[in-house]
Amino acid sequence: MQSQDLVKLAEEFGSPLYIYDAEKIKSQYDRLSSAFSKVPRLRINYAVKALSNIAILQLLKSIGSNLDTVSIQEVKLGLYAGFKPEQIIYTPNGVSFEEIEEAAGLGVQINIDNLSVLEHFGTKHPKVPVCIRINPHVMAGGNSNISVGHIDSKFGISIHQMPHILRIVENTKMHINGIHMHTGSDILDIEVFLYAAEILFEAANNFKELDFLDFGSGFKVPYYKGDIETNIEELGKKLTKRFLAFEAAYDRELTLAFEPGKFLVSEAGYFLAKVNVVKQTTSTVFAGIDSGFNHLIRPMLYGSQHFIENISNPKGKERFYTVVGYICETDTFANNRRIAEIKEGDLLCFRNAGAYCFSMSSNYNSRYKPAEVLWKDGKGILIRARETFEDLLKNQILL
Ligand SMILES: *Cc1c(COP(=O)(O)O)cnc(C)c1O
Repeated sequence: MQSQDLVKLAEEFGSPLYIYDAEKIKSQYDRLSSAFSKVPRLRINYAVKALSNIAILQLLKSIGSNLDTVSIQEVKLGLYAGFKPEQIIYTPNGVSFEEIEEAAGLGVQINIDNLSVLEHFGTKHPKVPVCIRINPHVMAGGNSNISVGHIDSKFGISIHQMPHILRIVENTKMHINGIHMHTGSDILDIEVFLYAAEILFEAANNFKELDFLDFGSGFKVPYYKGDIETNIEELGKKLTKRFLAFEAAYDRELTLAFEPGKFLVSEAGYFLAKVNVVKQTTSTVFAGIDSGFNHLIRPMLYGSQHFIENISNPKGKERFYTVVGYICETDTFANNRRIAEIKEGDLLCFRNAGAYCFSMSSNYNSRYKPAEVLWKDGKGILIRARETFEDLLKNQILL
């Protein structure tokens, strides 16, 4: 997208504003499919939690995606957006048994990551096919907040507990149709991913009637110039080879599944906010925008470095700024960042605002959540209206 397009959309829909480029989502989807084009049965399950707007779900459905969901509400959003139950996998962690039963009742693929739940579910519903989430105990990235495969992770059933899994399956006669891992976000090293994949293959060999192997996600996309990213093409080459060899030896048709969130939508997203104040202190220049961690929490929560551009003055001389929000708490988006000279009223654009941005937003400080716009065929389509005062009052009851 061009800066002028973004500026126009802010004029039309106001600020702060989330914008998603449909073409970019599609090209990322195509890129992943192409990397694994030699796999006869490839399935991409978009991770709804990254960006759960129903128009985005519709868009992903139209390009052939399936869904990965982590709550019954995400399952319902997917169904509402037009997905069939068999296009949805449900991978919850720590939810109630009743919620898992409800999801199974809706006909979606259940993925279980806990021995006691596996035993309970297998006993009660031996005929419902179940996928098992394994923890291979492999660290995907460097940030322990987003690495979920390590030893003390709450996710998955430890690979070392395989004998116990097998005993439950044998005793309950339940049907295991898939094996799954998701070692967390930000895969920096393909070899580490392939190492975890070997553990998944080994686990899969314990089951005779699998339909799919789900390798999760965690594909890293670049956030700024020179940032590292997962080399999907190289992963495609290497994992395809291993997968096809495994499938041949397994002697049964298998689907290779992934469930990317960030990879599909991160770079498609732009977050626009207006500069309310430029404030000089003894040591820095603050640019204060009409937003805060109520709208974009990733920099404060994960230390994410979103690239920031002054789209009102893209050619201006660069100066150092600390970009902050309007929340009555420390909410620093970026420290000492080189940005083209900022005047009050300018529009700043945050890149990589597609994944885990709007979906993590809140009403803290009683602020409205921003509007969301889909950029498609050279036009902006409103896909979520900006909140109003009525939204803040909704569900509240005066004494
Ligand atoms: C969050 C999540 C994903 C998506 O991870 P990304 O890093 O956004 O690709 C995939 N699978 C499961 C089970 C998840 O919880």
